[in-house]
Amino acid sequence: MNDEKIAMVGTPCQVLAATKVNKYPDITGGSPIDIKIGLFCMETFSYKYMRMFLEENQVDINEVKECSIEQNQLKFLKKDGTTFEVPLVKAEGFIRKNCDICSDYTADISDISIGSIGSPKGWSTVIIRTPKGQEIIEALEKQGQIETRPIEEKGLNLLKRIATSKKSTNRINIQKREAISRPVVYRREVSEEEFQNFVQECQFENLESDVISEGACVLCGACEFVCPTNIIKIHDRKPYIKGSCEEGCHACYTACPRTYVTEAVLPRNLDDKPIGDYLDIKAVNANFIEGQDGGAVTAILSYLLKEGIVDKVFIVSEDEEKAWKPKPRLTSDIGTVVKAAGTKYSVASIGFKALKEEKA
Ligand SMILES: Cc1cc2nc3c(=O)[nH]c(=O)nc-3n(C[C@H](O)[C@H](O)[C@H](O)COP(=O)(O)OP(=O)(O)OC[C@H]3O[C@@H](n4cnc5c(N)ncnc54)[C@H](O)[C@@H]3O)c2cc1C
Ligand code: SF4
Ligand code: SF4
Ligand code: SF4
Repeated sequence: MNDEKIAMVGTPCQVLAATKVNKYPDITGGSPIDIKIGLFCMETFSYKYMRMFLEENQVDINEVKECSIEQNQLKFLKKDGTTFEVPLVKAEGFIRKNCDICSDYTADISDISIGSIGSPKGWSTVIIRTPKGQEIIEALEKQGQIETRPIEEKGLNLLKRIATSKKSTNRINIQKREAISRPVVYRREVSEEEFQNFVQECQFENLESDVISEGACVLCGACEFVCPTNIIKIHDRKPYIKGSCEEGCHACYTACPRTYVTEAVLPRNLDDKPIGDYLDIKAVNANFIEGQDGGAVTAILSYLLKEGIVDKVFIVSEDEEKAWKPKPRLTSDIGTVVKAAGTKYSVASIGFKALKEEKA
């Protein structure tokens, strides 16, 4: 277990959570997450309200075969071949409010970031950010597992426009919230030293006042994962504690992606770079995978397991009992990874819980 390596796939906020857990191992206990595959993300939905919305529109969620967002339309392809489609603005009621203050569209601090915007239908846009990420994509190309093409200028411009729009709109939302004393502490400037000193005083009650009660929690599960006394539970879309905090512990406040984030974790100059820093960007199609877009995520995770580069991967599959409800998993089985392909648009934690159970 000590030498175990894990690759994760997740939204930008989940990637930030994993980065913070690993940045402060003396406080949080760290994690074996070694490779981070980030997804582009404009927003996420509440499962309960999405289900209710579909019911109101006479759509049985059990009959939905595919869910996608294309050209500002939310599309549900049903098993009988018909489609229920609404403009994304009509889905505002079930978009999680914390997404309004999110300043990252393309998971800027991942090894590889992947989304659909920028590439033709059936292809994934893949942003390679680190040498580790580059090695993975080159190996997959060499093995013939993926086909790649340059991103067309039109696609790249569209991607940059959308990313810029998210960053600038949400920057205004952050300023508005700060002006009415609803803190968005993760975007405040703080030095590493200030952060380390400040968190010494912070326990769950501070997490509650600065993040949870402010509607800024992204439900990533990092607080639950790092709590040494296991008193944090996540229920009804909210972390809470059952019991008292250990004296001197400030792990949850340190790990949370919505408390203070220093320059070393998320450089501030990324706010002015629509899609972050990168080495290369390509359109990718995974030849043997039926994924949400080009199947790039599934091809990468399967390759990492097959080659023994990681021992396990965090994925988000579908709950067996509830159609389209995301279920985070930790697995070493390629078949399970392939089965989990496809986007579940409602909010999910990452596989921290499964990892914690394994650690216990
Ligand atoms: C909430 C959300 C919002 C998104 N918004 C955008 C967007 O605005 N623009 C854009 O271009 N792309 C967006 N994406 C990404 C896009 O939908 C595809 O996931 C991406 O293009 C990868 O496609 P693929 O065919 O390579 O992946 P696949 O090979 O199909 O694999 C998809 C992977 O995503 C993981 N996954 C599925 N649901 C979730 C979830 N809820 N949380 C974390 N991981 C999950 C699965 O574990 C699976 O491994 C979003 C994804 C999510 C989860
Ligand atoms: S906070 Fe919302 S918009 Fe931002 S990465 Fe997380 S799910 Fe996506
Ligand atoms: S013991 Fe308290 S302060 Fe420490 S991680 Fe758990 S809830 Fe947070
Ligand atoms: S409070 Fe917990 S679940 Fe919510 S964002 Fe912070 S670490 Fe994640």
